[in-house]
Amino acid sequence: MRIDVDRELCMGSGNCIFWAPGVFELDDDGIAVVVDPTAAPADKIALAVDGCPTKAITVTGD
Ligand code: SF4
Repeated sequence: MRIDVDRELCMGSGNCIFWAPGVFELDDDGIAVVVDPTAAPADKIALAVDGCPTKAITVTGD
């Protein structure tokens, strides 16, 4: 599974970190980056995707 964050869309709300801890972190620019796509189960990652206010997260693959 591949998880991408669109840096143009991300506004640094941190919702994804709440929903899928360990998968995302905010970088020095306050933009979410994927640090470990295996750190949370798929249902939590789906919550992160749905919970992103700017729909910046996309998941491809299984
Ligand atoms: S939930 Fe969306 S907007 Fe908020 S930090 Fe994560 S990717 Fe960025």
